[in-house]
Amino acid sequence: MIFRQLFDPVSSTYTYLLASRRGGEALILDPVLERVDRYLKLIEELDLRLVKAVDTHLHADHITGLGALRDHTKCITVMGEQSGVDVVSMRVGDGDHLTIEGLSLGVIYTPGHTDDSYCFTMADRVFTGDTLLIRGTGRTDFQNGSARAQYESIFNRLLKLPEETLVYPAHDYKGDTVSTIGEERAHNPRLQVRSVEEYEDLMANLKLANPKMMDVAVPANMRQGLHQEEGEKEGWALSVAQARGMLGRPEVLLVDLREKSERDRHGCIPGAIHAPYPELAANIRPGGLLNSLAAAADRRLVFFCAFGERSAMAVQAALDAGLADAAHIAGGMDAWKKAGAPVT
Ligand code: FE
Repeated sequence: MIFRQLFDPVSSTYTYLLASRRGGEALILDPVLERVDRYLKLIEELDLRLVKAVDTHLHADHITGLGALRDHTKCITVMGEQSGVDVVSMRVGDGDHLTIEGLSLGVIYTPGHTDDSYCFTMADRVFTGDTLLIRGTGRTDFQNGSARAQYESIFNRLLKLPEETLVYPAHDYKGDTVSTIGEERAHNPRLQVRSVEEYEDLMANLKLANPKMMDVAVPANMRQGLHQEEGEKEGWALSVAQARGMLGRPEVLLVDLREKSERDRHGCIPGAIHAPYPELAANIRPGGLLNSLAAAADRRLVFFCAFGERSAMAVQAALDAGLADAAHIAGGMDAWKKAGAPVT
């Protein structure tokens, strides 16, 4: 396995790069905008293909690298379903699995530091975001934070993991790099409380200044979505009503780019074929599944995904591959369902 812990000294953020092998798919956790060039260089040096960029929560102390990494690598951006950011490609919920080739991370919803905080488990380790830090915990006094929720997340979720589980946090301000669940239970001063009330009391009296970057970082991180206006200009962004009018038409091929877990959870548009986004390049090249299906009957490819981000990138890729008649459903399955359109 490839496992890299990368550090941003300005915000004291740890970013994690994961892959099952050299030459394979990679996932990055909590990337920092200013370090994106470094990540891209490392990804290239290790001969990796970045397919997912994930934030554990909406950060207040640095600008996320999610948008820049997506623009450079066409990767899928991922956050939790509670997150208020404008567009990410994919949202995960408690109990889901976040997968790339050869790796599967468990998804735990751990509100408290923010109401969109997640932790991710993997075999012998857990990525704890700002929920559990080494000998500390993430502050709970802004971004819909809640000391009560954090207590539940830590005591009833994280501390239930095996004692020897390695703890990799999103930050460290003292130079520590890793801990274990057992070590934190025994020695983390914030966890030596006897009740949730005692924890609330402790967190209410920390008297912390707001992060320096907060007024810049939070608004910037709320708007990391792909600029989709170009599609509207070029006429390849379809509204739900337009797409609905195409249902059942033989000259249209509806293509669902989402993963199986998303289809299971949110349903699908009737008549769509399933061709997950990570395999897009292979599917649209000459001889590929979608290329053949489109060419055979002179059909128009209409892509959709969860929120319209993967599908907008797919249209661009299809156009680049010479499939001129491609379009996508703006807003994706989310907009489709909000409009009350039919779902199977
Ligand atoms: Fe944070």
